[in-house]
Amino acid sequence: MHTDKVHQFEELLTIVTTTAGMELVEHKGNLSPFDNKKNNDVLSPLGGSPLTITHKFSRQEIYSKIKNAFEAHGLKHIPFEFAVAPTSMIGEQVQSANFFTFSQDTAENKTFVYPLISPSGSMSEGVSQEELLVVVVPDFKNIVWKQMSWMVIGAILFTILIFAAFFITLKALLKQKKLSEIKSDFINNMTHEFKTPLATISLAVDALKNEKVIQDRTKTEYFTGIIKEENKRMNKQVETILQAALLDRQQIQLNLETLHAHDLIGTAINNMKLPIEEKQGKLEINLNAANDLIVADEVHFTNVVNNLLDNAVKYSKDNLAIKLSTHNNNNQFRIKIEDNGLGMNKETLSRIFEKFYRAHTGNLHNVKGFGLGLSYVKKIVDAHHGRIKAESTLGKGSCFIIDMPQKK
Ligand code: ADP
Repeated sequence: MHTDKVHQFEELLTIVTTTAGMELVEHKGNLSPFDNKKNNDVLSPLGGSPLTITHKFSRQEIYSKIKNAFEAHGLKHIPFEFAVAPTSMIGEQVQSANFFTFSQDTAENKTFVYPLISPSGSMSEGVSQEELLVVVVPDFKNIVWKQMSWMVIGAILFTILIFAAFFITLKALLKQKKLSEIKSDFINNMTHEFKTPLATISLAVDALKNEKVIQDRTKTEYFTGIIKEENKRMNKQVETILQAALLDRQQIQLNLETLHAHDLIGTAINNMKLPIEEKQGKLEINLNAANDLIVADEVHFTNVVNNLLDNAVKYSKDNLAIKLSTHNNNNQFRIKIEDNGLGMNKETLSRIFEKFYRAHTGNLHNVKGFGLGLSYVKKIVDAHHGRIKAESTLGKGSCFIIDMPQKK
């Protein structure tokens, strides 16, 4: 690209020199020995040769003509040096102040030459001495680079733009892919979550139709109990999904009150007692915080603790042991829930608070869920201006820490 530009610029300067030269040559045809000599400062040992450009024009006039040619070709700001010199050793020469210096360095500066030959048929043809117009453009390479700099900057900006557009598109594409994966995961989970209770209900209803069962009151109660339980379970699932959709659409409306956090934690623990017992797990509670007053929404805050305990039970191994403790720490009320369950790897840990995210656990465990629990927890903690942190080691267990602000 650079050499192309150099060639282009050389061609343009050749045209400029030619234009200036032709302009001078035009006058050469009209030169007569009777013209007044302008360049008295030019040495002319032989008394001056008539009919030459140097004879006819002053240095300033030659300069103006060349300058005009530069301007006419849009090169107003290009510096140049010039000389009009005879082709033979004898004769007058006109040159600009730094012409000699610049014409020496042909590596940095570019020289353009145009022969000033009298037009055929003119008065001076064959009589006038042949002269050359020499134009030197100093620092030629730099000028070309400067002219190219805008192109280069433009090209760089354009490349950046293309890359940016490419990355944005790629990101959008990946996001789209992730969304569609999440969607199909969600549908799979939901199908599973609803199919199981529906099947159980259907079986229980079939059993209830049985004559023997109808007559046996305890059996009837047992089956209706199952239907009620499964119904409750399905209701809970629907609630979870609706809640997530609601949280998405509107700001969380918190009903803030000053509450004793230990009371709320107590309620959550009560809710979880049964599932923990079912797994023959242990729950160790250390309510160490001396000040447990927090400003919170009773329902949402209890749900948060509930969700964390629920996960600790869901993602457990044998010998489930959960530790729940509270502390006061720098005007913060801290709740720590530790389990000795399956734990998570780094990738999972970094994404658990994303909506719909569930670890792809393969054969490791078969716990179903919507991946909404922790995203809800995070939203609620954020809405309370609190902070949640999760630590985990795969195979060893996880630890969730919530810090809630407290009044001084
Ligand atoms: P769900 O439990 O419905 O999948 P959550 O948002 O509650 O949704 O949890 C997201 C993911 O985080 C879970 O799929 C699980 O892989 C991981 N996870 C959450 N809590 C724990 C925990 N206590 N131990 C191990 N993994 C957990």
